[in-house]
Amino acid sequence: MGGDGSGSHMGPGKLSVDSVPGVCIIDSFRAGKLFSSDNERMEWAQFTVRDDNGTESFRVNVAWLSCPYGGYRPLWRCPQCNRRVEWLYGLHSRLACRHCFRLCYTSQKEGRQGRAIARMNRAFDRLDVDDEGYFYKPKWMRWATFNKLVKQGQDAEMESLAPLLDRFGVGELLAELEAE
Ligand SMILES: [Zn+2]
Repeated sequence: MGGDGSGSHMGPGKLSVDSVPGVCIIDSFRAGKLFSSDNERMEWAQFTVRDDNGTESFRVNVAWLSCPYGGYRPLWRCPQCNRRVEWLYGLHSRLACRHCFRLCYTSQKEGRQGRAIARMNRAFDRLDVDDEGYFYKPKWMRWATFNKLVKQGQDAEMESLAPLLDRFGVGELLAELEAE
């Protein structure tokens, strides 16, 4: 796994997240693309990347996480590294997250949100999770550790949602995330 802060010491010539076409899961969510015709949550989505190198089709899994305040929050599973991410990018006929492409952050895209999601992943990845997205304590783990990781993950998740909350308001976002 690449370091979370790797974007800060990118050399010259590195691409930034703003210079590569990307797809944000929140936009797909709001466009209704993550729901089937009978309003079931989709487990995957299909993407096509077209560029000078040709055309490739990718099936991308969607991770639905239960939110600390109720409802579900979708994230892409990167087709290359399986990280949970909000943005995927198309480059060299591939589709992957900014970690895989070693894209650097800008102030506009991902920055604070991407770092918060990375922190959330580090905490949640140590827990057991069921099909509904609820977390459980692994057998060997102490309760104190479990409670600390849940709190860390949820705090990071709330921070990652903050820019959306600023834009849409808690009520609207909750309504959208719970729409089933
Ligand atoms: Zn990746």
